[in-house]
Amino acid sequence: MKKTKFLLFLLLPLSVLANLNVKHTPIPGGIAVVDFYTNHSNPKAFYSQVPVYTQQVNNTHWQALVGIPLLAKIGEKQITIKDFSTRNITFKVTEHDYKKQYITLKGKNKKYVNPNLLHMDRINQERPILSKARKVFSNTIMNKAAFIRPVSGVTTSPFGFKRFYNGQARRPHTGLDYAGDVGTEIKASGGGKVIISDEFFFNGNAVFIDHGQGLISVYIHMNKRLVVPGQIVKQGDIIGTIGQTGRATGPHLHFGVYLNQTVVNPNLLINHEI
Ligand SMILES: [Zn+2]
Repeated sequence: MKKTKFLLFLLLPLSVLANLNVKHTPIPGGIAVVDFYTNHSNPKAFYSQVPVYTQQVNNTHWQALVGIPLLAKIGEKQITIKDFSTRNITFKVTEHDYKKQYITLKGKNKKYVNPNLLHMDRINQERPILSKARKVFSNTIMNKAAFIRPVSGVTTSPFGFKRFYNGQARRPHTGLDYAGDVGTEIKASGGGKVIISDEFFFNGNAVFIDHGQGLISVYIHMNKRLVVPGQIVKQGDIIGTIGQTGRATGPHLHFGVYLNQTVVNPNLLINHEI
C-alpha cells in the first residue's frame, strides 16, 4: 500500500504536466489546435455542437484540439467556448490534396462493393453501435503521451486516399493501413478504456479504445481480439493480432483515430506528420 502511494506521488506531477502535443494542422482530416485563455477550471469547447478535446497547457492557457472532417469545406470555421460565458473563436481550414487509389475486389470480396439485402440488414444493425461508440465523450483524459504505432509494419495505404472500389467512388480512406502477417501483435496506441471489442461486416474483428475527451482509437480487420469492453488498457498493451476479417484484400491493420466524432489522420498524434 505504502509503495503504491509513493508511486502515485511520483507519477502525479508528471501526468499533470504532460499534454497531448499536436501540431496545428487545419486541413480536412487534420486537427486544428485552437488556443484560448480562461480562469475557469473546467471550460468546455464545441465544434458544430459536438464537444471538443480540451487540455490545459503549462498552467498558462488552454487548447482545443478540433478534428476537421475529411469532407469539410475550406474556409472560416468557429468553435464555441463555454466557461463563465459563451464565446466563439474563429480558425481557418485550408486545402489539402489527397491522392486517389483504385482497388479491385474480386470473387467473394465483391459483396463488399455492393452488399446484398441480407448484408444491408447486418450493416444497418451495426451502424448505430459504431456511431454510438464514436460519440463517447469521457471527461477524464486517460492518455497524456504521444500515441505510439500499434504495429511496426510499413504503411500500405495512407490516410485520406480517395478510394474507388471496382471503379466506384467510395468514401476516402479513414485511417492508416499497416502491413503485417496474420497473428502479428497489435499494441494500444495510448492508454484508455475499451469501448468495443466485437465483429462487424465491414470492419471484421474490431477494437475501439476511449482515451477521454472524445479521443478514440480504432483497430480493425483483426484476427484475434484480446480485450473486452470496459477493460482499462495501458499504452503498448497487446489488444489483438493482425488479420484479414471484414472488407480487407489482404492481412493488414487499419488504424483509425476519432476526435469530436471525426476521423483524423492518426500520424498527427504519433509523429505530427500528415
Ligand atoms: Zn484501411
